[in-house]
Amino acid sequence: MNPRDLIADKKRIVVKVGSSSLTHAETGGLDYTKLEVLVRELCNIHNQGKEVILVSSGAISVGRRVLRIPKKDGSLSEKQACAAVGQARLMMTYQKLFAEYNHVAAQILMTKNTIVDDLNRFNARNTFAELLSLGAIPIVNENDTIATYEIEFGDNDSLSAIVASLVGADLLILLSDIDGLYTDDPNKNEDAKFIPYVERLDEHIMEMGKKSTGSAVGTGGMNTKLQAAKIATCSGADMIIANASDMRILHRIMDGREIGTFFAAHEDEGFDLISFVEGMNQ
Ligand code: GLU
Repeated sequence: MNPRDLIADKKRIVVKVGSSSLTHAETGGLDYTKLEVLVRELCNIHNQGKEVILVSSGAISVGRRVLRIPKKDGSLSEKQACAAVGQARLMMTYQKLFAEYNHVAAQILMTKNTIVDDLNRFNARNTFAELLSLGAIPIVNENDTIATYEIEFGDNDSLSAIVASLVGADLLILLSDIDGLYTDDPNKNEDAKFIPYVERLDEHIMEMGKKSTGSAVGTGGMNTKLQAAKIATCSGADMIIANASDMRILHRIMDGREIGTFFAAHEDEGFDLISFVEGMNQ
């Protein structure tokens, strides 16, 4: 059986969207058209009786724009200040858009400590469960205003997979500015071949991630997406990487169409999320 045929039965879905897919490249300002379509698609999935969690980047990029800070690599405190302003702006926009479709958006900000610390993890899991049972749509980001190197996830690809693992999601969709996984970087090698389906994440596949470049806006490249695939699939969730240039791709994915790269879940009893997170950035 084609695993895409089972997508319609998924119950708990995490969708991750990167900064480059939510903002205009030239200015860093929010792309309202894309945001609107994204929110409409998520509400529609929710209306089908599914639970939806959005992991959204964009805080720093939006904050830079609001504070008129042009440079990408400023000091840590500058980045944190941008995130503080941008995250609030981002949530204000999401709240408004979700409300237009009579849905409730909720904010959850996380650091590595949220996972590593037993009490924090317990509380976070309970909060997700409560919000989902109340019909809200949690919107997650890294808590960039306080995260420093020691406690940061660093990229939202990994964060979204960690969230999928924490809440026991059965599907993770990474929306990005690439179509999916290629044998090599398609921007540099025109012979690079698209890979629609990955049954197992072996060394050979992991190696492909290292060859690809990331986007100019977000922090994730193919490498972090394959790390995310490892976390998600070992935790029992299928994962799909797809291109966010048209957000309507979400319902096409949910219809089971052959879009993006599909990574098949292989739940691994031995996978330990806490140790994994502890080992990040070390
Ligand atoms: N947390 C960052 C932000 O919201 C983005 C991280 C990423 O691009 O993966 O700006």
